[in-house]
Parts: sequence; C-alpha cells; structure tokens
Amino acid sequence: MTGGVVSSLGKGIAASSIGLLLKKRGLKVANLKCDPYLNVDPGTMNPFQHGEVFVTDDGSETDLDLGHYERFIDQSLGKDHNVTTGQIYNTVITRERRGDYLGATVQVIPHITEEIKNRIKKLEKAEDKPDLTIVEIGGTVGDIESLPFLEAIRQMGQDEGPANAMFIHVTLVPYIRTAGEFKTKPTQHSVRELQSIGIQPNMLLCRSAKPLSEPLRQKISLFCSVPTKAVISAEDASTIYAVPLAFHSQRADDIICEHFGLDAPAPDLDEWETMVEKITNPSRRIKIGICGKYVNLKDAYKSIIEAFTHAGVYSDAEVNLVWVSSEDIKQSGAEKFLHDLDGLLIPGGFGERGVEGKIEAIRYVREKNVPFLGICLGMQCAVIEYARNVCNLKEAHSYEFYRELKHPVIHLMADQEGVTELGGTMRLGAYPCLLDKNSVAFEAYQTAEIYERHRHRYELNNAYRTMLQENGLVLSGLSPDERLVEIVEISDHRWFVGVQFHPELKSRPTRPHPLFRDFVKASVEYNRHKADRTLNEPASSTDYTRSKG
Ligand code: GLN
Repeated sequence: MTGGVVSSLGKGIAASSIGLLLKKRGLKVANLKCDPYLNVDPGTMNPFQHGEVFVTDDGSETDLDLGHYERFIDQSLGKDHNVTTGQIYNTVITRERRGDYLGATVQVIPHITEEIKNRIKKLEKAEDKPDLTIVEIGGTVGDIESLPFLEAIRQMGQDEGPANAMFIHVTLVPYIRTAGEFKTKPTQHSVRELQSIGIQPNMLLCRSAKPLSEPLRQKISLFCSVPTKAVISAEDASTIYAVPLAFHSQRADDIICEHFGLDAPAPDLDEWETMVEKITNPSRRIKIGICGKYVNLKDAYKSIIEAFTHAGVYSDAEVNLVWVSSEDIKQSGAEKFLHDLDGLLIPGGFGERGVEGKIEAIRYVREKNVPFLGICLGMQCAVIEYARNVCNLKEAHSYEFYRELKHPVIHLMADQEGVTELGGTMRLGAYPCLLDKNSVAFEAYQTAEIYERHRHRYELNNAYRTMLQENGLVLSGLSPDERLVEIVEISDHRWFVGVQFHPELKSRPTRPHPLFRDFVKASVEYNRHKADRTLNEPASSTDYTRSKG
C-alpha cells in the first residue's frame, strides 16, 4: 500500500481497515509498516515530529500506525512489523564490515532493496504464517527517501507474480469549492509517478470530502488503468472505525480476495457495526481533562484518545477530551481549568516542563474527589503530590529532574544506572504485575496477574513505600519479585489510580482496557451525581458561582 499526492491521508487507517476485513473473512493477516527515515526507531524522536511512540509487547518502540493495526486487526504485533531505513542500512553496513559482501560494491540496488524484501518475507516465515501481509510504505510517492522501498515492492511484485502481489494506492481527490468540482488530476499524476517506477496499482482508495460519483470513478479508471470497481471512494468518515464498513460496502475485500484467488466467506461485521453505531450515537456526554505538555499535538496521545473512544462505547457515552496545558495551571491555578470536568487524566511524558502544573492538577482532583487516572509520568506526579501534600514531604520530587534531592520519591531504576545510550534503553515492553485482590485495580481487571507495556526509566523509590502506605496510599500492583511498584491508588476516593505502565496501548475497540473502562464509568457516575445535585439545589446558588466565573 502506497500513498500519493499529500501525506496525512490516513494510509494507516486504510491498511488497518483492509486488515480487519480480511481477518473477518477468516484469513490470517499481518500488517507491516515501512518508514523511510534514518532513525533506527522513533524512540528518540520528538513527539512533535513523529507523534506517539507505540510500544509493543516485545518492547519495540514503533510508529503509531502499529497502534491502529493492533486495534483494528485485534492482534499484538512486534519488532518485525515496523521497518525503517535506519534498520535496513544498519544491517547492510554491519554485514559489509563483517565482510559478508567481500569483493562486491554494496549498493542501494540490489543490497538495500534485497534487505527490504527480506524483512517483508520474514513475516511469511513466522510461526503463525499469514495468508496475506499488508505492507504500508510510509511517505508519499515522489519522495526521494521512499524510492528504495518502492523499488523493493516493485521487484517483489515481479518475483511473486501478479496473482501473489497487489498494489493499492491511497490518493486524494480534492473538491474545489469555487469550481464546484472534484479534481482527478492530482490522482492521475500520482498514479503516473508510480507507473514511471514500474508499479501499476490494482486498486485506488480515493480520499475525498464526499462520495465520488460513478462517472468520476469511471474517469479515474480510464486515466489510471484501474478497473472502475477497484476505484474505491474513501470519503471522510465520522469515526475511523467506520472506514472498514465503507470499504466493505464497495466490495473492496471481495476484489482483494478475487485478485488472490482466495475463497473466503463474507465477513461478519455485526459486532463492529454495533460499536460504530454506539460511537456515532452516544446517549450521554462527559468531559475528561487531559493535562500534558503537548496539548497542541493530539498525535502524541493517539492511543489514549482511542482508548477513551473504546471505553465510551462501553458506557454508551461520548468522552469529550478537554486539553489543559500544565503550564496554564501552574500560572492560573487548577480551579479555573478543571472545575467542570468529570475526570482527569495525566499522560506519560519526559522532562520537567509542566510538572508543577500536573502536580497541582492532581492535588485538585484528589481533594475534590474527581476521578483520576495517572499514566507513567502521571503516576509519578501523583506519588510526588501525595508525598508533598499528604505525607508533608514538601521537597518530594523526581530524580529525573533534579539530582540533588532531599526526598527523591521517584528514583532511577537500579538497572538504569550507568546507561548512557538513549535509543531503546528504557524499561520497555510487557511485564507481569500482581494485583492486590482488595483493590480498585483488581476490580477492573478481575484477575490477579496482568501484563502491561512499559516505557520508562524511573520508578517509585522503595525507601518511601512504608511512609506512603502509612499515610493511606495503596500500592495495589507490584512486580512479581515485589521490587517495583506498578500501581498506586487511594481507597477513600471516587476513583483514583496511577499506573507505571501504559494501559492505553492495549485497548481495543470491542475490548476496552479495564482501567479506561472503569475510569470512564466512574466519570459518567460522577457526572450524573453532579447533575442530581444541581437539580436539588436552588438555582440561584449555581448561577452565582457561574457568574463569578
Ligand atoms: N519520564 C518518566 C520515566 O522515564 C516517565 C516516562 C513516561 O511517562 N513514559 O520514568
């Protein structure tokens, strides 16, 4: 699968949707993302550049599209499912130094392209061999950097033969409002660009603001040499989860199965349709605040946003996310920004900027009994807040930010000492955690042993465990050797949980993550409670508070 005209067309969603449809037809699928940048993985990139880093069970730091893949095909992926130019060159150059190519001039073609093909074919050799591998090439056709990947898939099409390879191109058909017309020229150009490097697409997914008419699809078909039925109209959808349904209604999955000569039964999409219906027609709305550093870049919190959608389906509620800048809270106080929220989430993060605002936000929701979920840095901030304001350790802080500290309640993990390289060196991937049976966490998971994904260097300092517990903080989840605190909570609170791991990474549309599910449930109940209270109060008192603003 390639993309043309512009970036951000939702190629990842398209690849995930095709994956879902084929899987629902009983086929085994694997999704693979090829990223044409030189970083070995996105772990060291700024979220402003790249968006969220999606961590897999096996501890790889990958592109956020892997999150979409996992959520749509409901399958956990790993390091073999994200390939970057950096990894390819790393392998080829290491091999060259070892002398593996002795005598040869090492070149982009055939050595780099060969390695790309190896990485694609590696999935075929996996134990759970897929019937189909969906390979998404990052970037836009015409970019210099994606050329080796395009050349590699061209070769693969040749090697495997037309019945074993299919090229799907995602493109844009813009609507020019002043002319009142859709324009097919950008699509024609982008397909021609593909053809010039030897790739003839078999299917086009045409992104547009509205459905494309039959004559328009015929025109695109004629200019691009793609059968009209394979010119799929991929108009903007109300939710990303409606995209597979739109593809299916145009028989995209039938066309793919026919191409490969696969005799697969029609997909059962009932459960998926019900989920989409619930997303588009919720019975109620709640407001949950997200207080973080990157409030202007939603891509940095992709999985969290999706996890809220899934949890909302369960509670039949639309979760409206209110982005609150921690810097603003630090300047103007928490009340102003948080007073009408039904819940607060503090996400993961790195670096000191905004931390004081986050701590202040947590104090507010802890004291006001507003549902709270803290993730990774969010949990660490909750511990700092508790130590400062409940245990009276005013100088409590994290060793991440200051090395000379009187009370480093958050400390460097023992195995992180002496680590100097930044790439891929955190505590990464899925680890087991044992839950206290008498806890909010256990109530959510309904099982004592859980596996959750991590991405951090710091942890709760064990020297402060007893003091925190004596002051009422419940340490409800520990690593099996009891050396690491993974979950903290407060029992006499509406719902207050902090987790050292990233629950958002494992939430799936039809199986919301237990913590997000219960957090949203608690926020819905709190919202109802507030509504009841308002109904029973004399109207003037609420008006008064509002007018004071
Ligand atoms: N910066 C913190 C750490 O490294 C938290 C990381 C995170 O939130 N993902 O431990």
